[in-house]
Amino acid sequence: MVIGSAPHVLGGYAQPAPPPLAPPPFPLPVDELGEGRPASPAVLLPTTRQKGALVDRLVDHTATPPEAETLRQNLGVVDAGVLQLLAAQGLKVSVVRPGDDIRSFGVFQEVDPKTLGPQHRAAVEALQEQNGAKFESRHANLRDRVEAGSHGGMLIASEGANAIKAELELMVLSARRSAELDKSLFDAKIPARCFMPGLDLPPAMVAQAIHQANQPLSTMDMAFRHGAITPEQHQEFEQVMLALNGERLTRARREGLEKMRSDLVPGDPALEGQLQCAEEDPCCIHVDHRAHDLVVPDLYYHGGQRLTRESRESMQSWAGWGTTVKPYDLEIEHGSEIGGAFYPPNRVLIRDCEVGESTPVHEIGHAIDHAVRQADPAFHAHWSARVKQAFDQGGQVSSYARTNTSEYVAEGVFHYYHDPATLRTLDPALYELSEELLQSASRLGSQALQPGFLS
Ligand SMILES: [Zn+2]
Repeated sequence: MVIGSAPHVLGGYAQPAPPPLAPPPFPLPVDELGEGRPASPAVLLPTTRQKGALVDRLVDHTATPPEAETLRQNLGVVDAGVLQLLAAQGLKVSVVRPGDDIRSFGVFQEVDPKTLGPQHRAAVEALQEQNGAKFESRHANLRDRVEAGSHGGMLIASEGANAIKAELELMVLSARRSAELDKSLFDAKIPARCFMPGLDLPPAMVAQAIHQANQPLSTMDMAFRHGAITPEQHQEFEQVMLALNGERLTRARREGLEKMRSDLVPGDPALEGQLQCAEEDPCCIHVDHRAHDLVVPDLYYHGGQRLTRESRESMQSWAGWGTTVKPYDLEIEHGSEIGGAFYPPNRVLIRDCEVGESTPVHEIGHAIDHAVRQADPAFHAHWSARVKQAFDQGGQVSSYARTNTSEYVAEGVFHYYHDPATLRTLDPALYELSEELLQSASRLGSQALQPGFLS
């Protein structure tokens, strides 16, 4: 079926494709709700009608009646207790279709720039000091080797090779230093990052990323990369940069301007233009953000909103550079486009053509992970340490499960419900961990059950 040319019904696509996953017999006899596994302890087994009613509580008005019925069947494999927990925590599942304004779902995290800056600056500086001290002696050593091998910018024949090697090592060390500072900022929940890629990039991309991150940038470039378009957005970004970095930014600019002057090649119109701009407006000065540990706020502009980076990336995956949900681009290899997403604390979005596919149970897997963490943090901490262990040991039920531990868990839940035999064979540890998570969710769900909830 060519999805893009399907006739529109109710503002969305025609009837979604029949689910390729064999749905469980529906309605389920009560004693088969456990799918052949021992029933979770303390679970009150509801009737099929009641279970359908539980799914209906999760699915909101954005689903057409056929979509709601498909979701009833698709999510019908999930234990009733688990559904109860999700319902008790207020989880809502919405269906997203092309043409929707993705902002209308209210899932993205907005940033108030007034809360960014001065109050974080002291914390940022403390982390910068700590982190810098760890690298100081190694940096100095490499700088000495670079200097010993060069004179006035020219390599000395005998020491030249050493100097080049030291310079490359210095580049890598600087990247590591920024990455460690980045991680400390993240761990301390400070909404600012080094302007650099994380350490979690695939090895093939690291060299390129380090090279890019070492290019000097002006704060105007940074603002552009954060989506700033209007003069007001640029001005606001600049104010937050100053508030976060203070004296470090002033120093970086002083040095940056000197370097631009000394690097000027008379007659080169590009360099002359850049220098002229920099002399007039400090926002245009190329700064060595690495050497000065400059940090940028977690503030991105998109669709007239101020968002966190995560939210902006998520908005882009639904709507590209605009705000209107795009149809699946069939030119793009299947699987690389967003089919659904879980937004903590309690929202799941599913693309209309995915309601009968694997996406809903996968996203519900993320929601269960989150719900159990909220409801039983002690259990979840212990359990997730074991998840990390299994993941680090290379557990793999699908290639997507290797993305990170969070996808590992969601894929575990999906396979536990839809293909437990494969899961048990390919990744027995994940099978066991998924079972523990779901039993815990089920127990918590039956406790959360309000009298009359199912009536
Ligand atoms: Zn996922």
